[in-house]
Amino acid sequence: MRILLNGRRGRVGSALAPGLEAAGHVLVDALVDAEAVVDFTRPEAVAANVRAAVAAGVPSVVGTTGWDPAEFRSAPVTVFYAPNFATGAVLMMRFAAEAAAYFERAEIVELHHAAKVDAPSGTAKLTAERMGGEVAIHSVRLPGLNAHQEVILGGAGQTLTIRHDALSREAYTPGVLLALEKLPTLPPGLTIGLDALL
Ligand code: NAP
Repeated sequence: MRILLNGRRGRVGSALAPGLEAAGHVLVDALVDAEAVVDFTRPEAVAANVRAAVAAGVPSVVGTTGWDPAEFRSAPVTVFYAPNFATGAVLMMRFAAEAAAYFERAEIVELHHAAKVDAPSGTAKLTAERMGGEVAIHSVRLPGLNAHQEVILGGAGQTLTIRHDALSREAYTPGVLLALEKLPTLPPGLTIGLDALL
């Protein structure tokens, strides 16, 4: 596929570009040459980029977070937005939600690099929400860590631990490739979350 990668020189974009090319996609410099747009830019830039893609009839795969995609709900072109493109993290949430039905209690430990400003993480909050009930979240911020989460479920005589480790930004590449592969099967307008594609 010919892809316009917005944010190509950013932290995620520079990890993603070689992965897209290795999978056989071709990166182009202009919307007019693109069959799909991938956006890992900034909250204040993303809506204008997606508007331009929609106006050009080109579908979008968006990873930029911290914006409201609601205006694209009934866009005439497909807009796919996932706040988390790490397939392992999305599966961890799904498995934790499934396991919660069989254990008395559960707690979440989320561990991130020291520069992460928010605590608890959005992924931890979403996991707790999907699991239902009271799920305490413990946040660890330390140098040397990247992005990690453990969901520990406990019942009489047994525990179950589901753990995900994001070790580098390459973790997002398989999720973006999956979204590009599924793009032609998605309806026009907005689809949110990698969970819908797994
Ligand atoms: P970053 O390093 O700041 O990169 C952003 C890039 O976007 C920069 O290269 C910037 O270029 C470029 N840019 C800014 N405005 C633009 C515009 N109007 N058109 C095209 N490019 C533009 O940020 P990052 O760490 O890569 O993260 C990017 C976004 O992805 C953030 O919103 C982050 O939260 C999100 N993210 C999502 C996931 C996920 O799984 N969904 C995972 C990680 C990060 P200049 O520097 O030249 O301005």
